[in-house]
Amino acid sequence: MDDTTAARLPALATFRRSTGACRWEGVDEHAYKEEGSAPFRAITRRVLFGDPRLSCELRYFEVAPGGYSTLERHEHVHGVMILRGAGTCLVGDEVRAVAEHDLVSIPPMAWHQFRAAPDAPLGFLCMVDIARDRPRLPTEAELAALRRDPAIAAFLDGG
Ligand code: MN
Repeated sequence: MDDTTAARLPALATFRRSTGACRWEGVDEHAYKEEGSAPFRAITRRVLFGDPRLSCELRYFEVAPGGYSTLERHEHVHGVMILRGAGTCLVGDEVRAVAEHDLVSIPPMAWHQFRAAPDAPLGFLCMVDIARDRPRLPTEAELAALRRDPAIAAFLDGG
């Protein structure tokens, strides 16, 4: 970031009051991704902090019961804190149950997906570099290789 960019950014603090249940005044709800760009179900995105002077963004995603994020991988890293509800995640070749306040980091090029429980939402904070590469989706061969692990196959089938 150069000095002129820095000069254009707001110098004032922002205060955004929580309105309860992981919602905040002045923070808009967005589509998770562009519809049709990748497989996902029942998930929304909110950007909580996105100041280039921090070099990172803090987002809040919320997956409705039975929904899931895209199965993807990329060079950039995620730092995730579960803030609400419960579910399961796949990171690399590990499937783990996750619940409120659990922490998950996703290293470069690890396949990852978050799935909400059938009867609970799964809301999580996700910290990410502002400058990041585009997520890559699995090829048929990569998906078949992942499915060779029965725990991963059950996870992908929503079990
Ligand atoms: Mn990702």
